[in-house]
Amino acid sequence: MIARTRLALNTATLGHNLPGHGAGWPVERVIDACAGRGFGGIVFWRGELAGRARAVGERARAAGLRVDGLCRTPYLTGPDAASDDDLRAAVDDAAALGAPVLTVVTGGTETGTVGLQASRARLADRLAGLAEHAGGAGVRLVLEPLNPMFGGNRTVIFTIADALSVCEASGVPDLGIAVDVYHVWWDGTLAASCAAAGGRIAGLHLCDWMRDTSDMLLDRGMMGDGVADIPAIRAATEGAGYTGPVEVEVFSRRWWAADPGHVLDTIVERLPGC
Ligand code: ZN
Repeated sequence: MIARTRLALNTATLGHNLPGHGAGWPVERVIDACAGRGFGGIVFWRGELAGRARAVGERARAAGLRVDGLCRTPYLTGPDAASDDDLRAAVDDAAALGAPVLTVVTGGTETGTVGLQASRARLADRLAGLAEHAGGAGVRLVLEPLNPMFGGNRTVIFTIADALSVCEASGVPDLGIAVDVYHVWWDGTLAASCAAAGGRIAGLHLCDWMRDTSDMLLDRGMMGDGVADIPAIRAATEGAGYTGPVEVEVFSRRWWAADPGHVLDTIVERLPGC
């Protein structure tokens, strides 16, 4: 049983971070709706901060919520890789918000290369370069491996083991790793990989894998609606010593069409089964 105080909303679950989706609640209303239901924390996306990260962070804390993180860096690898300045700006947003964690989605395969070796080397290098700025800002960089179907243009790491080898190659001691049900539910080595990662496990993202997934990005399930063994994934993180926030992150056109209050109520109802 997960304590309600560990529960955090990743605001992607309400859809408003993508144009044309969600009910369009202002960030203050989202904060109050979470606090009123006993959520412990909240994780924002950069787009919704609209240049007022500090004020949003203060507003969330005043309502009684932790700010557990910020999504996410621009890409570090591939043809769409961001400049060093743009990466540092993402760190600065997290620091202004008061978010302890900034999620890193790596970006895709490096131009002119095939396979993953060159891209992962570039990734480790860029993480090492960003780490000093992040450390000075009090922000922990946390790598999120993505489901292998996002290989090519979005990520070059697919498993906790992949993320751990990049962490080690980067030489950044506090570089963390996020475990997202959608991305790792299929991995039979998950418990062993989490145990090897130990204190690097720095996030647990809940959703579900629908048996007949219809859209690789926008058809995640609400916990309990799919076929992922969520308690086993949680146990893998806890076996590694993780006791931090449990963040619900459901990218789903179906849930984005629902009333946000109903979505939040459903999250609270489903938590005991996680
Ligand atoms: Zn995630």
